[in-house]
Amino acid sequence: MSARTVAKVVTAQETSDGAGVKLLRSLGTHLLPMHDPFLMLDEFRSDQADDYIAGFPDHPHRGFETVTYMLEGAFEHKDSVGNTGQLTSGGVQWMTAGRGIIHSEMPKQEGGMMWGFQLWVNLPRELKMTTPRYQDIAPGRVPEVKAEGVRVRVIAGTILGAKGPVEGVAVDPTMADVKLEKGASFSLDVPATHGAFAYVFEGTARIAGTTVRRGQLAALGEGDRVTFETDDGARILFLAARPLHEPVARYGPFVMNEQAEIRQAISDYQSGRLAR
Ligand code: FE
Repeated sequence: MSARTVAKVVTAQETSDGAGVKLLRSLGTHLLPMHDPFLMLDEFRSDQADDYIAGFPDHPHRGFETVTYMLEGAFEHKDSVGNTGQLTSGGVQWMTAGRGIIHSEMPKQEGGMMWGFQLWVNLPRELKMTTPRYQDIAPGRVPEVKAEGVRVRVIAGTILGAKGPVEGVAVDPTMADVKLEKGASFSLDVPATHGAFAYVFEGTARIAGTTVRRGQLAALGEGDRVTFETDDGARILFLAARPLHEPVARYGPFVMNEQAEIRQAISDYQSGRLAR
C-alpha cells in the first residue's frame, strides 16, 4: 500500500454563473483548470434568495457529464426534449450530456438555504457524442455507512462494502460525502492511478497530513490509500476516477478533444441541431 500525498491545495474563488448565481469555484479556475478527469467543482451555499433565485435558465452542454449533489434546498431540472426531475436535499443528478442537451436548473424555493455542488466530469473521446442520459437519484437511495466517528454517504463506487447508486459511468468514479466527528479519522482505499481530490465544506481536516480548511480543495497525488483526520469535525466531498489522458478543448459549456469539435458544437447549437 502507498499513501497518497497532497499535490496541491487550492482555495475556492468567488464567481457567478447562470443568471447570476453566486458560487465558490475550486476546480476550473486558473489556479487549477482541471484534475483529470474532473473539469470543474462549484459549491453554492446561501440563505439569501438573491444569490440563487435567478438560477440557471436554458443552456447547452456537450461532451461531458454534470453532477449535482444537493445538501439543502431544492432544484427543478427541465430539458428541451421534455425530461424533468426534482433535486432535493441529499439527492443527486448524474447527467451524461453526451452529444448535447439544452436544459434549465432552477431553484424550487423562494427563500431559505440553498446548498450543494455541481461537478463536471469528462467523457472519453468515444463517448463524447453518446446519447444523453440522466440518473436522478432520490436521497433515500444513497447508502450511508458508519465507522467510529465517521458517516459516509456513498454516491458512486464502493466504500466499506456499500455501493453507491450511480452506475455505468465511463471513468469508474468514486464519490462520497464524508462526515467526521471531533477527533475522528478515516482511511479510504482508492485505485492507485485514479485522479482524486477532496474538498472540505465544513470545518477543517487534515487530508494526507495536510491541513485543509472549509472552501479548500486538495488535489491528491498517486497512491492507493488516503487518510482524513480532524480535531474539531469536518465534512469532505471526495472524488476519484480514471483519468483520460486525452487533449481537452473547452469553451463554456462544451468540452471536446479538438478545437474543430468546439466550432462544430457552437454551430450545432446556433442552428438548433445540438439537442435533437
Ligand atoms: Fe447545466
